[in-house]
Amino acid sequence: MFAENENIVLTARKRAETATITVQPLRGNLNALIGSGGNIALLIGKDGKLIIDSGYSTSRPRITDALTKLSPDPIRHLINTHWHFDHTDGNEWMHSEGAAILAHENTKKHLSTTTRVDGWDFTFPPSPAGAIPAEVFDKEKTLHLNDSTIALSYYGPSHTDGDVSAYFVEADVLHCGDTWWNGHYPFIDYSTGGNIKGMIGAAEKNLAGVSEKTIVIPGHGKIGGKPELTEYRDMLAAIHDRVAALKKDGKSLEETIATKPTAAYDAKWATTFITGAVFTKLVYAGA
Ligand SMILES: [Zn+2]
Repeated sequence: MFAENENIVLTARKRAETATITVQPLRGNLNALIGSGGNIALLIGKDGKLIIDSGYSTSRPRITDALTKLSPDPIRHLINTHWHFDHTDGNEWMHSEGAAILAHENTKKHLSTTTRVDGWDFTFPPSPAGAIPAEVFDKEKTLHLNDSTIALSYYGPSHTDGDVSAYFVEADVLHCGDTWWNGHYPFIDYSTGGNIKGMIGAAEKNLAGVSEKTIVIPGHGKIGGKPELTEYRDMLAAIHDRVAALKKDGKSLEETIATKPTAAYDAKWATTFITGAVFTKLVYAGA
């Protein structure tokens, strides 16, 4: 799908070896770590560090550096928003330092077996035992740690079939995982149960759960809030409607791409390996 000289997964891991990790304080004892794969959330306190998503393993020294500067407490809890490598590569080392890993049951399933992602032209081997979530949940789970309530909720099939959100209730901060890419067309992983209609549904769920004051952490892109989430949902829905109409008219994928259904959006959203044509293909597959 992606005309790259080197495979996108290998390139991403290599790039992470030198990527800078930026700490962005959010509210209270909650911070974001930006720069290693998916955006990481970090809650500090007497119960030890709680982390949402573990980034690339190649970022370990820089993530460790950032974590140590913030507090000396050990990592006790790690939650994966979904199974993708840019959110779980660091699972093994974080577990080795004491983190219990929690995720949706489908995330455990994909990490436990050989898993092919056609959109990346890559086959992942089963993860090492220490990287696999020891605890899983199906629909909802609530944690009480570091004087915070952390409400985890399953989206249903959207970006993959194992996406969950993490809402820090008192701080009013929502981590959406890869159901939201702020300022980028999203990848949708059809190989492990994702689809465009589920992505739009997840965007609706995100919007319904936030107020104007909520800080929202996307899986990728800058931290934002309701206005940016709204613009993203509108973009997904508009492109889906256009592509679905063309598909209903009997247009092939090639014919649909040729009409450039994303043209009005490309300047703002075609900012990664997901070009307008690639995103059209991802939408067409599920329209
Ligand atoms: Zn992902």
